[in-house]
Amino acid sequence: MDFLPLFTRLEGQVCLIVGGGEVALRKARLLHKAGATLRVVAPDILPELQALLADSGAAAESLQDVYTPETLDKVFLCIAATDDRSLNQRVSEDCGQLQIPVNVVDCPELCSVILPAIIDRSPIVVAVSSGGKSPVLARMIRSKLESSIPAAYGRLADLVGQFRDAVKQRFGDIEERRAFWEQTLDGPVAEMVYAGKSDTAADMLRELIGKAEPAPGGEVYLIGAGPGDPDLMTFKALRLLQKADVVLYDRLVATEIVELCRKDAERVFVGKARSNHAVPQQDINQLLVQYASQGRKVARLKGGDPFIFGRGGEEIQELAEHRIPFQVVPGVTAAAGCASYAGIPLTHRDHAQSVRFVTGHLKDNSINLPWAELVHNQQTVVFYMGLIGLPVICEQLIAHGRCPDTPIAIIQQGTTANQKVVTATLATMVKTLEQHPVQAPTLIIVGEVVSLREKLAWYEQQGDLDT
Ligand code: SAH
Repeated sequence: MDFLPLFTRLEGQVCLIVGGGEVALRKARLLHKAGATLRVVAPDILPELQALLADSGAAAESLQDVYTPETLDKVFLCIAATDDRSLNQRVSEDCGQLQIPVNVVDCPELCSVILPAIIDRSPIVVAVSSGGKSPVLARMIRSKLESSIPAAYGRLADLVGQFRDAVKQRFGDIEERRAFWEQTLDGPVAEMVYAGKSDTAADMLRELIGKAEPAPGGEVYLIGAGPGDPDLMTFKALRLLQKADVVLYDRLVATEIVELCRKDAERVFVGKARSNHAVPQQDINQLLVQYASQGRKVARLKGGDPFIFGRGGEEIQELAEHRIPFQVVPGVTAAAGCASYAGIPLTHRDHAQSVRFVTGHLKDNSINLPWAELVHNQQTVVFYMGLIGLPVICEQLIAHGRCPDTPIAIIQQGTTANQKVVTATLATMVKTLEQHPVQAPTLIIVGEVVSLREKLAWYEQQGDLDT
């Protein structure tokens, strides 16, 4: 290890920045955030940097002058941020003599301290450093961490801070204390904080501390996994999926997404092929209750969004009745995903002022829909579960007054490598499909916006199956 990471208290300490340009400004902002008393020396100082200094209180100093060793008087930390290499070197040497920690921007060999890439979830702060070898790599690692550390970790740390003493009193034994915190920081209390309800979390924590035995942390995450492309999952979906001990998933959820769960997690397939539910809905609801009651963390993965034709409401109703904590994570619904990947904006100033999501599921060989409401010219209509009913859909829309030339698109397995888009008109689609068969799941989009695809399609390979 070439450098030891230390977290330094800068409150009230004089920190000198030599240089007055963009780089100096960035460093000044950082030091200011940490409460340092800023001193800046440079013949020219950017107005924004001047403003920052003016804002930093009476002790801040702006020296519009050249650097001299006297500038280092009472300095706790020095950053050289000029583009003059020999000046930077001089500053570094002067600091060395006076044993003042010095950082020379982009010049690790002149530094006695280096500034890491920072993920700030104060009071949690994560620092990443490549020892000056590759700041770009350090920043890339930071980006990866940024996306996996919930923004609310800071709030969680604050909450822990508030209850630290109480927990210490309650659990004299250090091992007991650790177990308590481990369980709490990975359970419903933490999730409550992430959901923005710190007060409720504090109440729960108070209650837990009062109890003899910590409650088993069973809970359910109803997660929208998006339409297929795993990259379309949200950070929250991924985080909760990776917490789960058990994962219940549908046929619609892509294998790559299920694979993202923990290796030791139990995976339960609960089916849901069209009219062939591998596990009846009521049993799925029961299963969720059963697993969570055993104190396990259960991820219920659903295709698209759980609250759009997903029966997610029924599943959590059962949980609510059993007072099992749960969270719902929205997902990119098939309409949004397929439309984007097919280059079909669902609304458009010139073509569609509204969009409607409709189920095309057949009941007793007919589709019971308010057809008259679906034929407005300037409305896009998206049919989920509509492939079997397609002939009825086209026929009824025309019968109720929608122009037979209205463009229609069928998107097969949207957002996946198997995406295929077939376009035609209400009058011709049924025939067109005979020549270009598609495989479920498919989504149907009806409306003028479909014609925009000619210019906006971006996702599929050449040899597209438009007609
Ligand atoms: N909750 C899901 C919808 C479930 S209903 C969501 O929000 O997307 C199942 C229907 O969704 C399928 O019949 C199909 O019409 C549509 N669907 C889901 N994923 C799809 C995909 N990748 N491509 C095309 N249609 C899809």
